[in-house]
Amino acid sequence: MSIKASILEIKRFAVHDGDGIRTTLFLKGCPLRCVWCHNPEGIAFPKELSYIETKCIGCGECAVVCPTHAHEMREGVHHFDRSRCIGCGACESVCLGSALKLYGREMTVEELMPLLLEDREFFEQSGGGVTLSGGECLMQAEACEAILKALKQEEISTAVDTCGAVPRAALEQVLPYTDVFLYDLKAVDDAVHRRCTGVSNRKILENLAYLDAQNAKIEVRIPYVPDYNDQEIGAMAEVLRGLRNLTGVRVLAYHNYAGSKYTAIGREHRMPERLPTEAELETARQTLESVGLRVIR
Ligand code: SF4
Ligand code: SF4
Repeated sequence: MSIKASILEIKRFAVHDGDGIRTTLFLKGCPLRCVWCHNPEGIAFPKELSYIETKCIGCGECAVVCPTHAHEMREGVHHFDRSRCIGCGACESVCLGSALKLYGREMTVEELMPLLLEDREFFEQSGGGVTLSGGECLMQAEACEAILKALKQEEISTAVDTCGAVPRAALEQVLPYTDVFLYDLKAVDDAVHRRCTGVSNRKILENLAYLDAQNAKIEVRIPYVPDYNDQEIGAMAEVLRGLRNLTGVRVLAYHNYAGSKYTAIGREHRMPERLPTEAELETARQTLESVGLRVIR
C-alpha cells in the first residue's frame, strides 16, 4: 500500500529553508503548542478547513457541493457552520472567491514526487533542493522517510526542518536520506520552554546531541520572542558551542502576521504583542557570535 502524507501545502521558490532555491513541503500536525506559532493550521492532526470571510463573494457554489450543509446561503448571504465540516474538501475546489482552503489533504509519495521535482532545474542552478517542514514533519516519519529516500534516488538535496520533539526512531529513519537538519531551539531552561511551548525540552536537547553525535549537518534556528525566550540566548549559545557539526545559527525575528490565520481556522490566538527591535536581534546575534558561533544573517 502506498504511504500517504497529510500535507498543508507545497511552497515553491523558498529561500530561507536551506541552501539555494527550494521547494518546501509542509506536513500537518505538531507536538508543540508555541504561543507564537505562525502556522496554526499545522498544529492539529485532523483536517481543517480555512475560511477567509473577507474573500467570500457569496457565489453559493460551496453550499451546492457540501454534503453536510456546513455551507448555507440564506437570503443571498453565505453562512459557514464549522462544526458540521467533515473535511471532504469538495468546497475548496469550487470556491470562486478562493476563500476556502483545506489543510490536511492526504497524498501518496507517488503523487507528491512530480510536484517536488518540478523545479529541479532551479535546484541545480542554485544549489537548492527540497525541504520537509510543518507542523512537525517527523510526526509522519514513515512518509518523510519514503519521500526523502525517493528524493535521494533522484539526487536531490534534502533538508528536514524539525522542532526536535520527536521520537528518536523518527530521526533514525530519516538520517540516511537527509543532507541537513534545520533544528529549532527555543530555550534551554525547561520551565521557560514549557511556558513557551507547553512541553519539556529534554527530548529536544537529547535529540540535538544525538544528531551531532551521528555527524549530521545541523543548522539551528532560534525564534526570538521578546518576554518569552529573550533571556535564553546566552544559555543557548553555551549549548550550541559544544556541537561539532553545526553549520550555523539563524535568529528568527518573531512576527505576528499570523493572527488572521487563527481566525480563518476558527481558533483564538494568544500570540505575543511585542515584536523584537533590531537592536535586540543584533544583541542576540552578537551573543551567539561571542562564543564563536557562525550566525547566518
Ligand atoms: S470540506 Fe466538505 S464538509 Fe467541509 S465545508 Fe467543505 S464541502 Fe462541506
Ligand atoms: S464558494 Fe467561496 S466565495 Fe462562494 S459562497 Fe462559498 S465561500 Fe463564498
